[in-house]
Amino acid sequence: MNTPTFGFDTLQIHAGARPDPATGARQTPIYQTTAYVFRDADHAAALFNLQEVGYIYSRLTNPTVAVLQERVATLEGGAGAVCCSSGHAAQIMALFPLMRPGDNVVVSTRLYGGSITQFSQTIKRFGWSASFVDFDDIDAVKAAVDEDTKAIFCESISNPGGYLTDIPAVAEVANAAGIPLIVDNTLASPYLCKPIEMGATLVVHSLTKYLTGNGTVTGGVVVDSGNFDWSASDKFPSLSQPEPAYHGLKFHETFGNLAFTFHGIAIGLRDLGMTLNPQAAHYTLMGIETLSLRMQRHVENAEKVAAWLEADPRVDYVTYAGLPSSNYATRKAAIYPKGAGALFTFAVKGGYAACVKLVDNVEIFSHVANLGDTRSLIIHSASTTHRQLNPEQQEAAGAGANVVRLSIGIEDVDDLIRDLDQALAAATS
Ligand SMILES: *Cc1c(COP(=O)(O)O)cnc(C)c1O
Repeated sequence: MNTPTFGFDTLQIHAGARPDPATGARQTPIYQTTAYVFRDADHAAALFNLQEVGYIYSRLTNPTVAVLQERVATLEGGAGAVCCSSGHAAQIMALFPLMRPGDNVVVSTRLYGGSITQFSQTIKRFGWSASFVDFDDIDAVKAAVDEDTKAIFCESISNPGGYLTDIPAVAEVANAAGIPLIVDNTLASPYLCKPIEMGATLVVHSLTKYLTGNGTVTGGVVVDSGNFDWSASDKFPSLSQPEPAYHGLKFHETFGNLAFTFHGIAIGLRDLGMTLNPQAAHYTLMGIETLSLRMQRHVENAEKVAAWLEADPRVDYVTYAGLPSSNYATRKAAIYPKGAGALFTFAVKGGYAACVKLVDNVEIFSHVANLGDTRSLIIHSASTTHRQLNPEQQEAAGAGANVVRLSIGIEDVDDLIRDLDQALAAATS
């Protein structure tokens, strides 16, 4: 089914899947197995040499996970994908083949709080570093790239403010520098945004969010466009030069546009072991079947809730890029025409204390550290997801002390507005 002549709604149900060859089962079975019997010793040797593609051990590949990989790669317009155990694992898996000790990545200041911590603190243990830049200032992005920069990283729609990144402009900078642009497309999903069509090399997702869609799975995926020439410079020796961890195999020369995907499995999953389990892949496959329908409703509800909040005197401002009054309205129309997602923040008059009261008084909204659920969710970022950051980082990330983040679900929108109305009354009385 992997053909561009099918529409998105067809592909979200069929791409990568077919009736099970052993049983005819129509839904993709959960292949709950660790290992796969080799036909004979030669078959085993060919598999281990990557001369033949097949299943060896489920840390590397699994048939249920493989269907999910092909489904997401198809929806994103990529050549291949590697699933992994979380969105955070996907970010490490995306950088791992590109980076050596001393290398850096240029990243947006507007990122999920956990990603800011991962990039500003934890990757230093690998000898990597990150330069944080305001991605609305394209000249600053350009200026931050130096000869040790191996990638540019941003979110399409950014967490928590819901701001929109000008992906074509950032891709141009990456392209001119001869390095890949990695886009975290978690908040948009491939229904609202296709970064590869706009020049991105790699796309990462937290499957945990909209792709699964109902708060049941922790997972991630790295999608490779297949468009990057890893051998054009000497910047990416893991892909262009003999790989010592794979008996001198040259991944780009051997696997062409699937080099990054094969490296992700044969080196990344083999040696880092951040593998997605088949049960989780099954739940995510079920979720993706309704992705477009959910995203349409998420956006429709978010637009109504944001407009109601903007008009409310208890609210200072609303960051939703889907509002006609937003500074991002032009960019939204040009790059995100199907909608600006369903995650945004609003500032409550009354500051930190009122925000804490608000989250304690909602009834339908759940106070949780997740997003992209069918249910509506609320969180006070400054005291939770962005707590590890200093006040300047919180402000830069759009998670100041007076700000509450909403992830708008697919319930009846009138019920959501009534709930916020009564909670705001309690918070500001
Ligand atoms: C949640 C999230 C992540 C991390 O994903 P996990 O599955 O929780 O590891 C990364 N990026 C964004 C934008 C997220 O919302």
